[in-house]
Amino acid sequence: MNLKLENHINIVGAGPAGLTAAIVLAKHGYKPTIYEMSPYVGRRMSGDFQGLENWSGDKDIVMLLRELGIDVNFLCIPYYEGDICAPKISTLKIKSERPVFYLVKRGGANDSLDNGLKEQAVYLGAEIVFNRRIESCEEKIIIAEGPKRADFIAVGITFDTGTENMAAVIFNDEIAPKGYAYLLINNGFGTMATVIYKDFKNTKKYFKNLVNFFRNEKYTDIKNEKRFGGFGNFFIRDTNAFDKKIYVGESAGFQDYLWGFGLRYAIVSGYLAAMSIITGSDYDYLWKKEVKPMLETSLVNRYLIEKFGDFGYRYIARKFAEGNPCNFLKRNYNPSFFKRILLPIAKNKYKKNELLEI
Ligand SMILES: Cc1cc2nc3c(=O)[nH]c(=O)nc-3n(C[C@H](O)[C@H](O)[C@H](O)COP(=O)(O)OP(=O)(O)OC[C@H]3O[C@@H](n4cnc5c(N)ncnc54)[C@H](O)[C@@H]3O)c2cc1C
Repeated sequence: MNLKLENHINIVGAGPAGLTAAIVLAKHGYKPTIYEMSPYVGRRMSGDFQGLENWSGDKDIVMLLRELGIDVNFLCIPYYEGDICAPKISTLKIKSERPVFYLVKRGGANDSLDNGLKEQAVYLGAEIVFNRRIESCEEKIIIAEGPKRADFIAVGITFDTGTENMAAVIFNDEIAPKGYAYLLINNGFGTMATVIYKDFKNTKKYFKNLVNFFRNEKYTDIKNEKRFGGFGNFFIRDTNAFDKKIYVGESAGFQDYLWGFGLRYAIVSGYLAAMSIITGSDYDYLWKKEVKPMLETSLVNRYLIEKFGDFGYRYIARKFAEGNPCNFLKRNYNPSFFKRILLPIAKNKYKKNELLEI
């Protein structure tokens, strides 16, 4: 592979989006430099477990990563089953033939997704400049700065536990208004969090309800707990390539507005940005083809979940439990005639939240 020294590319932000772009560019002979404002990768996260969703595409996500040129050199454990709780019904069991998600660790630990991607980028020759916050740049640059604004908030704890590996999700507005809460345990380490879409000022109350729920239900013992928090940003812009800047990941608004599964978007958009540079193709064309229909569908999904409340939670819980949850999720994460009909209504509802440039 030719090292094209003249093809130096700057990237702002060493999250999954920026690091993926760097890996793909470096594999094609480019020389990326990533500027990261923190002293190490993954600092925005807290060693918590997250899920790499495995339902929205035809391909298994691990196979997709390999096709995009990403090695799985980080903790990445398939989860096929779990519990699901919704108001006024007893806990249901989910079971799937295909992994519903792959559990990954975020943060700076050796086996985290962030560190794995960093190792790959550096091995391929990318330079990472830490402790460097970029405010402006005259040259062509990939912007992978992550979220700027909180459209939803997540608060939770990581902890040690003797409970065996498991996953659970709760839909309940007393714990996670218009969102959901989750519990993930792997090898003696756990994460529980509530993802809140409304009533941010009462976050403390919802967090307390979350911990009480899992304690009362005797789901898990909790030792050495550590609090963490974060937020997610969703919007749909008309262009993500302007003023010599190419926006990827959450800084382009690429999020799953329904439930915040933004990792897939971050990785795919990092790849698309790199490919647009390598092949000279139009980045706006690429993301509008690959990402925009899913973003719009997630906007409609958010509209629906907010409209149907507890009835919607019970419906989803039963659908998850009755058959193949991945098929149900895939159908609902991808565009359909019904979702296209509802799109103008959902756009109209969220226009005032400055989520849309339409
Ligand atoms: C608590 C929580 C749980 C989540 N759980 C899941 C989940 O289970 N599944 C899922 O798919 N998604 C989940 N997400 C969302 C997912 O983490 C994000 O969508 C994803 O990290 C976005 O990647 P990114 O590269 O766009 O941005 P980030 O991961 O935010 O990375 C951006 C990087 O840019 C750096 N940076 C920012 N500004 C500058 C600057 N000016 N100069 C230099 N550096 C800068 C930051 O320090 C950071 O390292 C969760 C998010 C949170 C907060």
